Amino acid sequence: MEIQSIGVIGAGAMGSGIAHVCALSGLDVKLIDAERERAEKGLETITKNMERQVRRGLINQDAMDAGLKRIEIIDDFSAFSDSDCVIEAAVENEAVKKEIFAKLVPHLKPEAILCSNTSSIPITRLGASTDRPEKFMGMHFMNPVPVMKLVELIRGLATDQETFDTIRDLTIRLEKQPANAEDFPAFIVNRILLPMINEAVYALYEGVGNVESIDTAMKLGANHPMGPLELADFIGLDVCLSVMQVLYEGLADSKYRPCPLLAKYVEAGWLGRKSGKGFYDYTGDEPVPTR
Ligand code: NAD
Repeated sequence: MEIQSIGVIGAGAMGSGIAHVCALSGLDVKLIDAERERAEKGLETITKNMERQVRRGLINQDAMDAGLKRIEIIDDFSAFSDSDCVIEAAVENEAVKKEIFAKLVPHLKPEAILCSNTSSIPITRLGASTDRPEKFMGMHFMNPVPVMKLVELIRGLATDQETFDTIRDLTIRLEKQPANAEDFPAFIVNRILLPMINEAVYALYEGVGNVESIDTAMKLGANHPMGPLELADFIGLDVCLSVMQVLYEGLADSKYRPCPLLAKYVEAGWLGRKSGKGFYDYTGDEPVPTR
């Protein structure tokens, strides 16, 4: 089966990025959010990001105009009745996602594939809550979607081969590189990346280095484009903490224990870039380390 029409649920950072790349690849996209204004805001973001791509010569104006025309904001799941595939990218909350699936599936055609962009909720468990666990899988895009090349493809226990192959083909059509991950906590990227960030916070907590020396050490010593603490601020410290909790609880191994200093920053509301302060203070012209 070849996917021609896509539904996207959630028009936040990820959902709007997914709609963006699907539309530029020639797919018809229907986009929905809990509130219409948020979907409209998502479309504004898509427009701005495509304009930037035009300015940089990555796409031409015709591609942008045609892409934007392919995106339709909808208000009701019944509009997904002709979609070949629906990708759920709503908030990371299992109850919300399950409620979305319960309301959605009666409207889908029987052969439609359902994917979730979840970063940490087990795909098998989400799939089991639907009427089509064999046509359900994880399609984990990276942020920002138009820029990042990787998509992790995660099968649930029940996902069938045809579904997997179809979504793999779709990923390639979106000019992304698939990497297969099994359905274990945090999949591959976050399983490896977040413990590294957590270790950087431990190094800070124990006084091995300060913010500046830890980030400089990893940028210049390990050739990382961003230091781990700078990256933590970019991801959001609340998100980092929640992934560590998923690893700690899901794998029941003390090596994933979230650093108490990370929890302290989250308690303070210092969540990184999005709140203006984290391991760096972003309120001035230049980021200034907070420790
Ligand atoms: P976000 O907060 O930017 O956007 C979530 C959107 O979902 C919001 O616009 C919200 O209004 C909408 N929403 C909430 N309830 C809804 C409902 N019932 N129906 C429709 N829409 C609803 O979040 P995000 O960063 O885009 O994350 C979305 C998903 O992608 C999460 O599952 C997250 O784990 C995953 N993810 C995030 C990242 C990242 O770096 N941000 C990376 C990979 C995967």
